[in-house]
Amino acid sequence: MSDPVVLYRVDGHVATITMNRPEVANAQDSELIDAIDAAFDQAGQDDEVRVVILAAAGRHFSSGHDLKALVGETDPDHWRKLRETPEGKYRHEQVMYLQRCLRIHDFPKPTIAAVQGKCIAAGLMLAAMCDLIVAADDASFSNPVLRMTGAGVEILVEPWELGVRKAKEFMLASLEIGAAEAERLGLVNRVVPLASLQDEVMALARRVAEVPPITAEIVKASLNHTLESMGQRESWQFHFMAHHFVHNTATALSALEHRKQLGSMKAVFEARDRGDQPR
Ligand code: ZN
Repeated sequence: MSDPVVLYRVDGHVATITMNRPEVANAQDSELIDAIDAAFDQAGQDDEVRVVILAAAGRHFSSGHDLKALVGETDPDHWRKLRETPEGKYRHEQVMYLQRCLRIHDFPKPTIAAVQGKCIAAGLMLAAMCDLIVAADDASFSNPVLRMTGAGVEILVEPWELGVRKAKEFMLASLEIGAAEAERLGLVNRVVPLASLQDEVMALARRVAEVPPITAEIVKASLNHTLESMGQRESWQFHFMAHHFVHNTATALSALEHRKQLGSMKAVFEARDRGDQPR
């Protein structure tokens, strides 16, 4: 039997959900997204669990959505078949990307992402759904999909995480932001040596777990409501529709077709799976 794509363990009041596809830099396919969701179910139902850590096995946090599973060289799953029409593509991304991520954002218990290595595109979207982010000193953040025609990913986290000015540069110029700059910009809470990432995140989680659960839940909801009242959810809804408009433009469709014909997506996939920046 192959390794589970997500590892789940509970230490005291802290549950740790670990993405476990290190061989592809934790590229997110349907199985991984489902397994993360199921692990959050488990953490949500366990009254002993007060804080959830979202971590990643291997050198990199996540290289984003698994494009190979979407258009590439693996057997199509139910969702990939659905993506053959614009309607199906919309439904797939609504359920598997938008709703699954918002569920983490809205999760009643505090969450902490532990990020090492590359955190790319939908990897950044996933980390940004967590309440706190602790980065290892080798962490870097990027969202280079614009040059591949994509209108960012499904949730526009960048202006909320970086400020609009930096978000524009980050996306339009395909900036890669290192750990120290991420801390300076407020994208991450703190940067720690890679070797002590797990210990530091666990110590922080234990500290958060000292807050009575009902208090933590209400304060988290109230902090999130601050963002709501600033229009975060509406801006995300707008972006999701805009994102889909761009998916279905002649520009995006012909680029996808062109890459399929040339087989040059393979190089893009492989670069992503190694955690390199796509060119
Ligand atoms: Zn999309």
